[in-house]
Amino acid sequence: MDGSHNSLAPRLPLITQSERQDTCPDHGEFTSAGFKIGSTMRWIGCPECSRLHQEAAKAAEAVKAAEHAQRVLEQRLDRSGIPLRYRSKTFQSFIADTDAKEVALAEAMEFASNFDAHLQAGTVIVMSGLPGTGKSHLAIAIAQTIMAQRTALYTSAIDAVRMIRDTWRRDSPRTETEVLDMLASVHLLVLDEVGVQYGTDAEQVSLFDIIDKRYRDMMPTILLTNQNKAGMKAFLGDRSFDRLREGGKWITFDWESHRGKVTAA
Ligand SMILES: [Zn+2]
Repeated sequence: MDGSHNSLAPRLPLITQSERQDTCPDHGEFTSAGFKIGSTMRWIGCPECSRLHQEAAKAAEAVKAAEHAQRVLEQRLDRSGIPLRYRSKTFQSFIADTDAKEVALAEAMEFASNFDAHLQAGTVIVMSGLPGTGKSHLAIAIAQTIMAQRTALYTSAIDAVRMIRDTWRRDSPRTETEVLDMLASVHLLVLDEVGVQYGTDAEQVSLFDIIDKRYRDMMPTILLTNQNKAGMKAFLGDRSFDRLREGGKWITFDWESHRGKVTAA
């Protein structure tokens, strides 16, 4: 670049600036800055409208990014984050007809609405109760809520272990470490049917590996179990159980199964 080129460039029209009072139909009076470019005067619109517009655009971007991350996760795991048949399980569709259920619902909603804080803290929630008490319902409602911004995966403990075990095959396209990393890096992992004895010791160890890795990486996890505290302690072992209790939350679903009620009627 040489100086002579600049001096030959056409002169830009002079820009002059001024101010005037303006009124936004939504946000009232504001001071508008005006720029005269050549002979055309341009006035800057309502700053609040502009802020809201930018915020909406940012939120739309975030939703798109979250959807993309979720799609990538699902492709890699070759499964849907929330099985289609569970998509109707939302906070709105959870029937809280007792105080205890209200408390469980409130806890679940708190977790979902403050998810970023729980993501920072690596909160672990245990939902304990009989089948049909709504544990999966609330856990899935949480997962579906946070999926607007974050990635989530709902799986039974057995299926999670199967994902790991499948990598033990010689022709597996993925390594055990890759799958473990995927299960550890999803923002919220919901593990259902934890505490059911099954499979080999090596398979049980895989489940502890998942829970442990998420704990160490401070990633929020929801464990659903039919076990009470003593049963969960026996299943996980003292060390893992103690870890759950640090910064963890235990929610007891100690009411009758709604499925049980239906069949008894
Ligand atoms: Zn406005």
